[in-house]
Amino acid sequence: MRFTRLRLNGFKSFVDPTDLIIHEGLTGVVGPNGCGKSNLLEALRWVMGENRPTAMRGGGMEDVIFAGAATRGARHFAEVALVIDNAERLAPPGFNDADTIEIVRRITRDAGSAYKANQREVRARDVQMLFADASTGSHSPALVRQGQISELINAKPKARRRILEEAAGISGLYARRHEAELKLSGAEQNLTRVDDVLEGLA
Ligand code: ATP
Repeated sequence: MRFTRLRLNGFKSFVDPTDLIIHEGLTGVVGPNGCGKSNLLEALRWVMGENRPTAMRGGGMEDVIFAGAATRGARHFAEVALVIDNAERLAPPGFNDADTIEIVRRITRDAGSAYKANQREVRARDVQMLFADASTGSHSPALVRQGQISELINAKPKARRRILEEAAGISGLYARRHEAELKLSGAEQNLTRVDDVLEGLA
């Protein structure tokens, strides 16, 4: 799966609709300090389902919405769209019936985030899984933010292992195992309740 387009609207410093075409090969983003280069990387992470405000350098998730400037008022929503080339049908079932997939994440003040895949509403989890299975989730080692290299050098072995697992594409399996464990413990609790009821009837 290849990213072909990134569109931003009201996301951080990108207050006006901005459309970036991502060509095949290497893409470089250059510009003066503070022009928004890191914000672009954060937009990529965010649309892939990042839900830690700290990863967005913010205190709360609504901090990604354009906060206003001397000449412009604050916006009420932020939206990022990521277009993926799916010609080879590498996306998981539910996503892989189209040549291109457009994932859109929108956050509205006081209303939280909503996701769409090709105009159809989807859950955050579905989007996170789509990218985790493609080894390129919001925690992907392919996205290197400032200061991350020194963090990696100083990281504990467990944290380093997580990075290798993400690169190997098995982090989606861990997420699924966690969900299965939650379901199992829910079922066990239900069984205990049924036993209690049966005992009461006996
Ligand atoms: P450097 O080269 O110094 O790392 P950069 O090009 O990576 O800079 P960013 O860190 O991406 O720049 O962008 C920082 C700019 O984004 C700052 O001017 C900051 O005020 C602006 N910014 C961040 N969040 C918001 C927001 N919610 N609303 C408006 N502007 C924002």
